[in-house]
Amino acid sequence: MSRPTVLIADDSLVVRAVVRSGLEAEGYVVTEAVDGTAALQHCRQQPPDIVLLDIEMPGLDGYEVLAALKADPELVDIPVVFLTSRSGMDDVVAGLRGGAHDYLKKPFEAPELLARVASAVHVKKLQDALHERNAELDRMSRTDALTGLYNRRHLDDELRRSHEDARRHDAPLCLLLLDIDHFKNVNDTYGHPAGDLVLGAFAQRLREQLRAGDIAGRWGGEEFLIIMPRTDPAGAFEVAERIRTCTGATPVTSVDGHVMKVTVSGGLACGPGDTADAAVHLADTSLYQAKAAGRNQIVAATLTNLT
Ligand code: GH3
Ligand code: MG
Ligand code: MG
Ligand code: MG
Repeated sequence: MSRPTVLIADDSLVVRAVVRSGLEAEGYVVTEAVDGTAALQHCRQQPPDIVLLDIEMPGLDGYEVLAALKADPELVDIPVVFLTSRSGMDDVVAGLRGGAHDYLKKPFEAPELLARVASAVHVKKLQDALHERNAELDRMSRTDALTGLYNRRHLDDELRRSHEDARRHDAPLCLLLLDIDHFKNVNDTYGHPAGDLVLGAFAQRLREQLRAGDIAGRWGGEEFLIIMPRTDPAGAFEVAERIRTCTGATPVTSVDGHVMKVTVSGGLACGPGDTADAAVHLADTSLYQAKAAGRNQIVAATLTNLT
């Protein structure tokens, strides 16, 4: 684990020096700020694991720095330990109510400083671990386990987001709905695990064909949706054709050596159109036409705006 970083913000050179030497001897990385403004600036540039904060300082005082930290979503979780020569109960209460983790009365003894800093660092580590875990859970809840692509839930969010963005900026937006042809035959002929292998291989090819900014996910079963923001119909059709030809040209080999030829049909909706739902619906209708017309082809359609 990397060494914890502590910012000491105090206008007293002596206090800073005492704190620094005590903490450095214990392996902490210490930086200093001479007043509240400098402390805040330092936190924004290089957030420390904890802040030791004097209350009486020129410019921004400790309470103001605390308030600014707690108002900033990026900095709200940094534990703040007040260093105060004010010993009144009111001061302590005001600090804790403002979101301080702890306080230390001046003059303080080194062992107490170290114990309180260690406790604050411990809390910070637990919080960081929790945030990481939450981010991981969020990522998992938006990922399709079989293919590693985004799942329907994430695609739904991205659809709304991209559609709003396209409308707001008067930019094009294309949706491509792809469906593997006669996929049921793959399962029936080679077994479900071979079908899974085909889905995984197809997803991998999608990833290889997409451009930065395109969002690809598994819409369900053997259907995949690709959201292409800021892409005009000609560009989107090119992407669709590239995926289709590449899929047909590269069969998938099952674990027992069967060469499985895979083709895909696609419905392309070029908009944005009035709503994200209307765009998806048109992509679906176009896909149906591609199937009816013999599969292994892309059918494109343009959304008309009513509003
Ligand atoms: P079409 O060309 O008209 O799309 O025919 P199709 O056979 O691909 O379409 P259909 O909807 O009849 O069958 C889709 C099959 O996909 C049925 C279902 O069991 C299979 N399937 C859906 N999800 C999975 C999966 O995760 N793994 C496997 N192996 N099969 C799946
Ligand atoms: Mg002071
Ligand atoms: Mg299907
Ligand atoms: Mg199918």
